[in-house]
Amino acid sequence: MTADHPSQARPGRLQVAVIGGGIVGLITTLGLLKRNIAVKVYEQSRGFREIGAGVAFTANAMQCMALLDPHIVDAVNAVATPNGEDMDKPNDYLRWHDGYHWDPEHPETSDDKLLFTLYSGYKGFQGCHRAHLLDELVKYVPSGVVEFRKRLTSYEDRGPQERLLLRFEDGSTAEADAVIACDGIKSTVRRILLGADNPASYPHFSHKVAYRALVPMDQAEPLLGSFKARNQHMHTGPGAHLLHFPVDGGKLLNVVAFATEPGDWPLGGTNTVGNMTAPATREQVAEVFRGWGPTVRNIVSLLPAELDRWAIFDTYDHPAPTFVGGRVCLAGDAAHASSPHHGAGAGIGVEDALAICTLLARVKETLQAEEAVLKAGLIEKALRVYDRVRPPRSQWLVQSSREVCDIYEWNYPSTGTDWDKCLAEITARSHKLWYFDIAGMLAELDRGYEKMKNLQLAPEVASDHHPSAE
Ligand SMILES: Cc1cc2nc3c(=O)[nH]c(=O)nc-3n(C[C@H](O)[C@H](O)[C@H](O)COP(=O)(O)OP(=O)(O)OC[C@H]3O[C@@H](n4cnc5c(N)ncnc54)[C@H](O)[C@@H]3O)c2cc1C
Repeated sequence: MTADHPSQARPGRLQVAVIGGGIVGLITTLGLLKRNIAVKVYEQSRGFREIGAGVAFTANAMQCMALLDPHIVDAVNAVATPNGEDMDKPNDYLRWHDGYHWDPEHPETSDDKLLFTLYSGYKGFQGCHRAHLLDELVKYVPSGVVEFRKRLTSYEDRGPQERLLLRFEDGSTAEADAVIACDGIKSTVRRILLGADNPASYPHFSHKVAYRALVPMDQAEPLLGSFKARNQHMHTGPGAHLLHFPVDGGKLLNVVAFATEPGDWPLGGTNTVGNMTAPATREQVAEVFRGWGPTVRNIVSLLPAELDRWAIFDTYDHPAPTFVGGRVCLAGDAAHASSPHHGAGAGIGVEDALAICTLLARVKETLQAEEAVLKAGLIEKALRVYDRVRPPRSQWLVQSSREVCDIYEWNYPSTGTDWDKCLAEITARSHKLWYFDIAGMLAELDRGYEKMKNLQLAPEVASDHHPSAE
């Protein structure tokens, strides 16, 4: 790295700290670097790590990635697997089947009936292997930008003339003009920002669990047939549903089975979140889908004998009242962890990243143009614009993800098992997500920043948030 590299802080320059090197943290970092903004990522783990499971990106997320930095799109495309038997001719339809009803006397004709399909747009829902995606993204992050084994424990705002002081578990400290917290669903920064006694500081159990596995395609294809194995399918039924799509160039089938868990998640208390996974067995999953059609039971039979059960937590019950405190903001799951039923939690975090990078680029421009301006005040104003523009959409996702799960499981009062109504409801919600007016968001951010830039902040708010060390 040259001395000029934007990750290197220089006096007077905008220096940003990103907390957490997950999907959203890395994508935000690439967007900042693309805008020549100095950034450091502080990640608590020893290295980048993602689980061996799939993730898919919706069209709006891909468009935001292109605007953040086209390398991000390259990284996704390097590992994305289009739906369909022929990779060059993607089949861009999502499918919902009745996985539950079947007639044992006529299994061939009665099992797993197609209920409805929805066009997702060209390559609108491509599966990626998470760990492979992270490997690709990291290729575009210059060395020296990320510091590992840096678990943030607290930060301090020492007043508008000073940079924020960050403290880490190992006793070290760092400084930054702005902090972007991408520290995930159990965010430490959210807890500091909202207060340890605030229920919105913690995610809560959605009473759904997910069993996740990657199944070798050479086992899945003979059992399911080529079409079913190589195209995204959702098998619906009462109180549970099962989703699968191909990843890793079609070498693996990503399978996620969702089930209802009426009790509490035993490993998490009211105001703490312990381990969100617990060991499970294939027999437990088979029990959930006992009596369902042969297709669903065949898919379950492909799961490994031992796998993990993931408790689905989200911020539905207690949404964060703000994503911002002074020069610190929350993004991605740290701000609005959602259940995964729209397949869009990471995607909406990418939208956050675009909003933040756009605003900080405006701050940088202003600082370059107007020397006397106070950096801290400008950053705070920019982040307040973010806090006005982003929450309505991301909080909507959290709510709609819960509701759409009810639709898949025939529990949503206004749709029940009326497939036309289900399709209409799913279409409206999916289109709201996929056909997002990105240009409109950017224009709104721009207008908001222009308006805010010259405003005098009210002293009680401008006096900053002074979170104390833990
Ligand atoms: C079953 C399931 C399926 C899903 N499928 C999809 C899908 O298909 N499409 C989609 O868009 N979304 C999907 N999601 C949602 C998606 O996984 C998340 O929204 C996304 O991973 C969140 O990314 P993030 O970077 O915000 O957080 P994370 O990926 O959780 O990253 C947080 C990072 O911060 C680090 N960290 C935490 N605390 C600290 C600290 N104090 N100091 C320093 N570092 C810290 C962590 O080590 C971690 O690296 C799914 C979720 C689930 C559960």
